[in-house]
Amino acid sequence: MTNAVLGTEETTALSLFSELEKYEHEQVIFCSDKKVGLRAIIAVHNTMLGPALGGARMWPYASDLEALTDVLRLSRGMTYKAAVSGLNLGGGKAVIIGNSQTDKTEALFRTYGRFVEGLGGRYITAEDVGTDVRDMEWVRMETKYVTGISRALGGSGDPSPVTALGVYMGMKAACAERYGNDSLNKKKVLVQGAGHVAYHLCGYLRREGAKVIVSDIFEEKARRIVIEYGAEYVPADQIYDIEANIFCPAALGGILNDDTIPRLKVDIIAGPANNQLKDETIHEQMLIERGILYTPDFVINAGGLINVANELEGYNQERALSQARGIYDVIKNILKTAKKMNLTPNQAAIHLAEERLAKIGQIKQIYAGKSQYAGRLGEMNTRATA
Ligand code: NAD
Repeated sequence: MTNAVLGTEETTALSLFSELEKYEHEQVIFCSDKKVGLRAIIAVHNTMLGPALGGARMWPYASDLEALTDVLRLSRGMTYKAAVSGLNLGGGKAVIIGNSQTDKTEALFRTYGRFVEGLGGRYITAEDVGTDVRDMEWVRMETKYVTGISRALGGSGDPSPVTALGVYMGMKAACAERYGNDSLNKKKVLVQGAGHVAYHLCGYLRREGAKVIVSDIFEEKARRIVIEYGAEYVPADQIYDIEANIFCPAALGGILNDDTIPRLKVDIIAGPANNQLKDETIHEQMLIERGILYTPDFVINAGGLINVANELEGYNQERALSQARGIYDVIKNILKTAKKMNLTPNQAAIHLAEERLAKIGQIKQIYAGKSQYAGRLGEMNTRATA
């Protein structure tokens, strides 16, 4: 590989390794099959707690470097998400370079599946932006290391009911911190995006007596929530200006930014959308300065990961829902740690994730049997007692 900027083959290789070393990625696999048009990168960030699990994103990246940067960032995020949520999973992610509208074929996903199988379980794949249940069913034809397949095939199916419960519990934990009690009764909640998670979440909110205001770029998508849960609809561009207790981003990332934060008139931000802060440092600080309590998105939306993780043990929705309820305590602990250590909620979440990784890493230093000598020792004992 030559690099126009750096010049030589050697320097390119060195810069790749320094990228991996920067955030301590364990392994990166470049997968290529010209005949089926597959170009994919799988990143295994950390397997201290268990196999690396994370979705396969299909996206028309402008360059290979952009794809690599994304997969390195996303896989690291998965390590923290699993660790802080108490799951015994590592962090991994894959990106498939291509257009999800036009480039999907059975052969492409089955080829990708064979590369995943080749990793022998170090990485478990799932759906993500640009990939869906059908794609994962193709992947499953070639590997058992895939989750997020349909209920009909014994998988966990749609994760949004579990994600919604986790968000609801996280919201209650944030209320406990802010108002001294966790009731959502009579709280005014602004829900941005009337999709899958929002639908189930609005059910929980209404049952507890919250007043729900929902927005979507397509008014008809909000209709079901308005009719079934008596929510009020507002057009998408108005949601930031309404005075309320809680703002719940349930649509897109990057919506907490220089333009929107000054408009917000809420006490709490708690919602499932990924990467809500346009800039993690600057915009979380802006929220703190405005006195708004931010619950880290990668923690409050961990129900999705909890759901697919459950599939690995034979899917049971009740067990997944019960684990998602635990997000209440996780958020409480993060907010308590943030206060105690003078950290932002995001920093506290990362601190707790790193602390768990270090503690469990320590445990694994203790020899717990199952050595390669086990068979021979057994044989010696048998001989000794014969
Ligand atoms: P979805 O696609 O079902 O719903 C998103 C909705 O947002 C759509 O109705 C869309 O029209 C609307 N929307 C898009 N742009 C908008 C805007 N500017 N203003 C208002 N509405 C807008 O998605 P979902 O599965 O409900 O997930 C919601 C968010 O939570 C996403 O960011 C997703 O990545 C994240 N998330 C989801 C899960 C899950 O279990 N589904 C798990 C973790 C994280």
